[in-house]
Amino acid sequence: MKEVILIKIGEIVLKGLNRKNFEDKLIKTIRYRISDLGKFDIKDIQSTICLTPQSESTDLDELCNRISKIFGITKYSRAAQCEKEIEKIQKTTVKYLKNQLSCVKTFKVESKRSDKKFSLKSPQISALVGGYILEHFPNLTVDVHNPDVTVNVEIRDFAAYIRTDSLNGAGGIPVGTGGRAAILISGGIDSPVAAWTMAKRGVELVAIHFASPPYTSPRAEQKVKTLLSKVAAYSGRIEMITVPFTKIQEEIKNKCDEDLFTIIMRRFMMKISQAIGINYRCQALITGESLGQVASQTMSAISCTDAACDMPVFRPLIGMDKDEIILISRRIDTFETSILPYEDCCTVFTPKHPKTRPSLSDVLVQEEKLDCKKLIDDAITNINITKIQ
Ligand code: ATP
Ligand code: MG
Repeated sequence: MKEVILIKIGEIVLKGLNRKNFEDKLIKTIRYRISDLGKFDIKDIQSTICLTPQSESTDLDELCNRISKIFGITKYSRAAQCEKEIEKIQKTTVKYLKNQLSCVKTFKVESKRSDKKFSLKSPQISALVGGYILEHFPNLTVDVHNPDVTVNVEIRDFAAYIRTDSLNGAGGIPVGTGGRAAILISGGIDSPVAAWTMAKRGVELVAIHFASPPYTSPRAEQKVKTLLSKVAAYSGRIEMITVPFTKIQEEIKNKCDEDLFTIIMRRFMMKISQAIGINYRCQALITGESLGQVASQTMSAISCTDAACDMPVFRPLIGMDKDEIILISRRIDTFETSILPYEDCCTVFTPKHPKTRPSLSDVLVQEEKLDCKKLIDDAITNINITKIQ
């Protein structure tokens, strides 16, 4: 029996004239992400992508796991494929769904006939398949309102497909169709979620991480790499750029007013990220800030941070509560890593009483005390690049 994966593409369907580009990108992404799992035939039929493994030994569980992490897919399901003859459909249904049907009490059959040349209409198909199931599983009854299992029969141009309920995909639109942006990534809970959220809207990611050895340790940097690899399972490959930040933080601490330390530090992060982002052809920066979460995330503080760069800065978590952010971080499996207690450069030299309403003119006066250009140039000269799969 031939088993395939049926994939429903969502919003792409709405993309009008660009639809073909979106579909091509999605199919290319699917091909790439499953290339190590074997050979596949991929057909795009009437808003459904049909993925057929060419070998019976293909690991379908792992295949579904990969598919569940590709943006642009709303639903997917495993299905049996057979010829478009009612007897074959009946037999295949009973054989394919034997295990599922033997451990439930009620079922219904739903049929869809997109090939209008098929001689039976949808209600007739459902009745014939349902009757055949009842003959083979006498303990089952039909419940059209609240069945334990729904058997779906789809008659398409090339073949018939039999499946039970489909699973939710990752949603969103294919990565690469939404431009490229640099995510400022720490080891915390928020920034990996911000990265994932933007990748979901088709954004290709470059990651920038500021490290301050010896105040921050190699294991803190390793933690960020682990977080990025979890995001990369959805977004595809990410280049991670580690920026040495020790000298800058020491200079700010030694020369500037303590209560503006964090805001000045964050402005350096933005300036450096913008310069690196331009080299990587990024069109925007992304951060994991959420309004009012800490002193540096008040509206006044964010205006000061924003004034440090010209690129648009996306803050996808700005209106979310911590609980909502944590829910996503659990879903994408970054939470347990994020809560490992390693230090981040943001926790180094943190002032006791940071200004919650900093004024840009005060900040600029403080920055006059530093050789900003040299500090930034030196940091960029000494970046380290890692490819995260
Ligand atoms: P997170 O959970 O992402 O660490 P946070 O709530 O701890 O966020 P901050 O520490 O104020 O908030 O950082 C705000 C944002 O600044 C982060 O979401 C991230 O985008 C960026 N950021 C913080 N620390 C770093 C770092 N070491 N390297 C790169 N970006 C950073
Ligand atoms: Mg942080």
